[in-house]
Parts: sequence; C-alpha cells; structure tokens
Amino acid sequence: MNMRVLILAIDALEYDLVEELNLRHIKQVEYGKVIEPTTKLLTPILWGAFITGTVEHGVEAFTVKNPLVKASKNFLEILGIDPYGTPIWLFYRALTKVGMSSRRVDKRDLQAKTIFGHAENPVAISIPAYNEWESIHKLRLKYPLARFVGKRHEKKASECIEANWKIFRRKLNYTSEMLGKDDWDLLMVHFLILDNIGHLYSYKPGKLKNAYRFMNSAVGELLSKVKDQWVLIVSDHGMKKGLHTNYAFYSSNIPLRLDNPELTDFHDLILEKMKS
Ligand SMILES: [Zn+2]
Repeated sequence: MNMRVLILAIDALEYDLVEELNLRHIKQVEYGKVIEPTTKLLTPILWGAFITGTVEHGVEAFTVKNPLVKASKNFLEILGIDPYGTPIWLFYRALTKVGMSSRRVDKRDLQAKTIFGHAENPVAISIPAYNEWESIHKLRLKYPLARFVGKRHEKKASECIEANWKIFRRKLNYTSEMLGKDDWDLLMVHFLILDNIGHLYSYKPGKLKNAYRFMNSAVGELLSKVKDQWVLIVSDHGMKKGLHTNYAFYSSNIPLRLDNPELTDFHDLILEKMKS
C-alpha cells in the first residue's frame, strides 16, 4: 500500500524558537535542523529546491519580467538608449503600478520535475515557485517588507499582517477540508505568515512568539485529523532578528533517523514514501 504524504511547509519556522517555546505539535516525534543547499536564502529558490530536489531548477527570484518589457529593454540597450525619464520609462512605471511589468514565478519557470509530478493525485496549496496564490503575490507588491520594517511603519506592518492572517485562515480551512478527503496521495500547503511577522516585528519578539504558539495549536488541530499519513513539517529557512538564517527546520510523525539532512534530501524521501 502506498503511503499518503502530508507536508506542512511553514515559511521561516525557526528551529531555536520552536525549541525555546517547546512547541510539541510542531516538533512531532522527530525534529531537527536542516542544512541549506545554497547560500541564496530566498523563499522561492528554497521551496523550488525542496519540491524538485535540486538547486538547478531555474527559479531565481519572486517574479519574472514581462517578456515584452524584457525584450524592449534589451533592444534599447543594444541601441544604447537609456529609457530613464523617457515616455517608455513612464510606460514601464504604469505597467508596474497595475502589476503587469512582471508576474510571479510558477511551475512554467521550473526546469526540473517536482514531487507533484510524481504523485497521482497531488494537492498543492499555494506553493512558492509552483502555484503560489495570486493574493500572496499582490500582498508582496502592496507591502514590500523591506520598506515597512521598524516602529515608524507600524500601521503599514499591522495592515500587512492582518491581510496575511486572512490568507492563512483560508489556507488552514482548505487544508482541514482536504484532510477529510481520501482521494489525494500528496498534499502540501505553504504558510507564509511567520516569515512576514519575523521580518516586520523583529523589534517585538513577543508578537512573534505569540504567532508561533498560535501556529503550534493550528498544526495540532490539523494533526488531530491525520490517520495514517506521513506528516512532514518543514521550513525553507529560519529567522533571527528579522533576517533569514542559513538553516531550516523539519519534523516527522514517524522516526526517520535523519542526521543533518539537506533541504533537497526530502525530495527522494517523499517519492520513497509515496511508493512504499
Ligand atoms: Zn521563506
């Protein structure tokens, strides 16, 4: 019989904070640190590596430029024309404003086969570099995190986090609903919220800790609906003082006896479990 696989992808989940707060649901029966396969600690690069098992997957950023914009920029460059300040530049800016100068990366940009391609009936809920929800992309455009860090921007930050929680609840409800169904063999859901709180509220550690405790109880509720699936909880990187750390977190509801796994090691393990 094949094993059904549930993956809770919790962005920026910090190993040391899970340990400090002793979050039992998140820790499951085995947990540990994960080694990064690359020094580029960017969310879509790391999740792309996790779902393909390689860092050679072709995704390098959150977005790809509109091909028309890219081509015209290249053309102007060949002619030696700097578009800055020209009507073309204003046109680019207008495109950016309506979100058309670029689009978020997705499965079209991945140059390697993903775990979902190996499953018979996969469910992928808002996975970065694969099928991240449009609402998350819009959130990123509306609230560039780097601009709203710090006490001065508390109003913007709280707006951003409120919108984040709304999306989180939608994902949670959807996942919970899917756990009641038995027609999928691989289900992966991505939660972004802790990453955004970690970036925006590095000066308020209590806020992040509360969010971790809340995440732990939400995970506990999901796990209470799991019967015979393998549950892997994994992060793409940790978070310290508002910055990504160069290690991630994993936990499993069955003993794996892993010893410092790399983020890309889980790919083969997932395929193995699906076939076992
Ligand atoms: Zn991330």
